[in-house]
Amino acid sequence: MTSTSEIIIKSEALEQNVKFVRSLLDKSTILSAVIKGNAYGHGTNIIVPALESLGVNHFSVYSSAEARIAFEVKSPKSKIMIMGFIYKDDYQWVIENNIEFFVSCPEEFKRVVETINRIQKKAIIHIDLETGMNRTGLGIAQLKKIIPQIKANENLLRIRGISSHFAGAESIANHSRIKKQFSVFKRRIKLLNENGISSEIKHIASSAATINYPETRLDLVRVGILLYGYWPTAETFIHYIHRRKDKTDPLRRALRWCTEVALVKTVPEGEFIGYGLSFQAQRTIKIMIIPVGYSNGYSRSLSNNGHVIVNGYIAPIVGAVNMNMIICEITDLPEIKVGDKVTLIGKQDENEISFTSFAEMNNSLNYEILARLPENIIRKLV
Ligand SMILES: *Cc1c(COP(=O)(O)O)cnc(C)c1O
Repeated sequence: MTSTSEIIIKSEALEQNVKFVRSLLDKSTILSAVIKGNAYGHGTNIIVPALESLGVNHFSVYSSAEARIAFEVKSPKSKIMIMGFIYKDDYQWVIENNIEFFVSCPEEFKRVVETINRIQKKAIIHIDLETGMNRTGLGIAQLKKIIPQIKANENLLRIRGISSHFAGAESIANHSRIKKQFSVFKRRIKLLNENGISSEIKHIASSAATINYPETRLDLVRVGILLYGYWPTAETFIHYIHRRKDKTDPLRRALRWCTEVALVKTVPEGEFIGYGLSFQAQRTIKIMIIPVGYSNGYSRSLSNNGHVIVNGYIAPIVGAVNMNMIICEITDLPEIKVGDKVTLIGKQDENEISFTSFAEMNNSLNYEILARLPENIIRKLV
């Protein structure tokens, strides 16, 4: 073992999640699986082939660096789309390998023009529009500036898409902002069309918009979190389930993070456990040591707060999360031995530490906890 814990990815869960997302889409809508952040911590090298075997053949990444990793493991017929940053030396590689990418600013477009003219190869671009998120994307002034440049280089550009991104479709609090963004998106597309620029497809929806705003699914949806089995927010789940007869969660968490008990011991009443004074034994208690800490992606904010599952029972964390270990109380559980199975995230027997509840405990988002799982934890597909 080259890590003290392992991440198990369940192909059955992925299959169910893909099926669910597909059930929402028209036949003609492309499902692009978002695999940025090491496939939300699940492992790009595992997730890409697993999703390919389920018929997914379009993958969205953030950067050219992530594209290179996905490119190594994808099948030849799958497509990669870069939604964000391309390192300047990577444009040639991206274009030569038919990798699709967003054009989000005029400076970036200049590099594209320079590269396609130098290597005489078509770039497959998505014109990314600023519609109100105020992050990336071409604003109206920039758009007007690059329209003539696009036209001047038309023979070396394949305008695959026009895209944008919503600023928080997972919360009803953003409802009017989302609606406004969508109408700006449609207006800007019209402007492009009137100037003789049209694209093969249009896309704007991520997981949350796919659920909450069906009219925004258009030709392609960029879905990440749902495929891994999590709702963008509890609110999105409630919004979905509210309209259904069947109230069971259609998603399956694909990931289980597990390890084993490293050590078991008894601590006398009155003693403090671990660093400092944050936990004092109020009676003689039994504890176990788990060989995972914040250096392994387990958040320090779960000190005296989080739970793990051991042999199917929930055990609370006592004291601080250390760099390489955590301590849990097991006083009232049936005998726990060194080597017994521990689940940090996911299901074990009847109990589940779900990322959603874990995230709430941790006061952070599913996205963050998943994406922070270190790359060096061993991952296995089952
Ligand atoms: C991350 C991301 C998505 C996917 O978001 P999910 O909520 O995980 O579905 C889609 N589009 C862009 C531009 C993104 O950055």
